[in-house]
Amino acid sequence: SAPENGESITADMIDDLARKHFPLCMRMLHSNLREDSHLKHQGRLQYGLFLKIIGLSIEEALAFWKQAFSKKINDEKFRKEYEYNIKHSYGLVGKMANYPARSCQTILTTFLPGTNESHGCPYRQYSEDNLRTALQKTWGMSGQDLQEVMGSVKTQHFHVACTRVFELTHGVKKGEGLGGGESVNHPNAYAQKSREMEK
Ligand code: SF4
Repeated sequence: SAPENGESITADMIDDLARKHFPLCMRMLHSNLREDSHLKHQGRLQYGLFLKIIGLSIEEALAFWKQAFSKKINDEKFRKEYEYNIKHSYGLVGKMANYPARSCQTILTTFLPGTNESHGCPYRQYSEDNLRTALQKTWGMSGQDLQEVMGSVKTQHFHVACTRVFELTHGVKKGEGLGGGESVNHPNAYAQKSREMEK
């Protein structure tokens, strides 16, 4: 079942949380957001719903996105063009649906990114070179560890690659995964387990 809302977080905690706890898909969305002061629609949805389930309230979400876009988009434009969609993803306007965060399965198989879009699963979407670079830059991964992860990607075992990265970056024994051998099947499960381990 989909992870439920966690304890609340605030907009100013996100840089730190991303660095310590987010899986590669969300790390990439976060760094693209910081580099470009923008994310396209599907990226905003994938990342926004993930952050909602981590525990970002609607007030904090509006503050987060407004600030993140502020180099390129003024307050008035933000209100007109972005607020509605953010409120919509919190089920506060329109259909009033309480949208869940996207699972790995959904991310891997639907809304596949086009050029210049940064959502999706990097293990699946990135070229070999770009993925290698992303893993090196994000976690300093190299040598045999990097080789092993790239090997899983080559055989299209994207969950296995992501789970192995979790193990390697959290000092978890191979095969333990998120606990008891559970592999990553939801970005929120990854982040939740990572945060639990810090306590
Ligand atoms: Fe994100 Fe899932 Fe891909 Fe890991 S396997 S990067 S959590 S979509």
